Amino acid sequence: MKAASKPAILILHTGGTFGMMPVAPTDTLAPSDIQEVLQRFLPELEKIADLSVEVVFNLDSADLQIHHWQCLAEQIFHQLDRYDGFVIIHGTDAMVYTAAALSFMLQNLPKPVVLTGSQRPIAEIRSDARSNLINAVELATHPIPEVGIFFGTSLFRGNRTIKYSTVEFNAFVSPNYPVLASVGLDVKVSHSALLPQPAGPPRLCPAMSQAVQVVRYFPGMPAEPLLRWVDHPVEAVVIEALGLGNVAVRENSLIPAVRALTEAGKVVAISSQCLHGGVDLSRYANGRALLEAGAVGVGDMTTETTIVKLMHLLGCHAGDPQRIRQQLVTPLAGEISPA
Ligand code: ASP
Repeated sequence: MKAASKPAILILHTGGTFGMMPVAPTDTLAPSDIQEVLQRFLPELEKIADLSVEVVFNLDSADLQIHHWQCLAEQIFHQLDRYDGFVIIHGTDAMVYTAAALSFMLQNLPKPVVLTGSQRPIAEIRSDARSNLINAVELATHPIPEVGIFFGTSLFRGNRTIKYSTVEFNAFVSPNYPVLASVGLDVKVSHSALLPQPAGPPRLCPAMSQAVQVVRYFPGMPAEPLLRWVDHPVEAVVIEALGLGNVAVRENSLIPAVRALTEAGKVVAISSQCLHGGVDLSRYANGRALLEAGAVGVGDMTTETTIVKLMHLLGCHAGDPQRIRQQLVTPLAGEISPA
């Protein structure tokens, strides 16, 4: 009897702690040959899937730029027919940004794209790399039509996730959206939490703009830095505000600066410093003043995803701030709860 064929999974290596090896004499961690690392430490992966491995780049994720996201999206898009799923080995630091970028670039995605990495390199004793990669590959064989992050014991929606710990093996959380799957003795996929299978054909939308700035509000913050962007090529400003989306409106009021930015055709987005819950600019007078000055509250979207979504929207709809404001609060890839 012919054995059932295994799912075909493409592993794309981009760098990060996962594959780093200590280099003598100082034992500083540096990128190494991932093919050799996988053969040496994870030969059993072949039991789960027919694996192909490509090294797209080998960087600390802090070095990633827009063109790296575009390169990854293109690699996946052009091989969608050849593989059942994709796993991206990635540094943890910028993982949520890449996941958000891919979720907007790969539209109508019919197959799983699972990012993973580790807190400790695979060559170290007590590394989390082995179990993260094994589970990421296993989950990439399931019909999960979206970009996820597997870490610890959970698969999260990538654009809902934040890196929350520099030291814990459960380094990521998804404060405003349930996990897509959890791994214990069994793998449990929460089908009701998944995006539906897309109705249309996949589309690649790699355009991105970097004309985005972010400020984190603090009591006593002067408004001048915001005013400097009125006559600047910056096209969108994210203000990470207090609580439900509040900033000062009396002493050191930010309202004139927000109004000036909006009148200059820029998009001003308000996210929250709180990780759980979201922005509601209609609740307090301070938030309402932002709304009346033209700012847009981003609901329960993370600040990280707000930044990347603005980069994407500015890339696709340059010169149409009204459209960008409206799209910013419209779910495109499950990144925000409907209002
Ligand atoms: N600095 C590393 C990176 O993000 C950290 C890690 O992989 O955990 O590439």
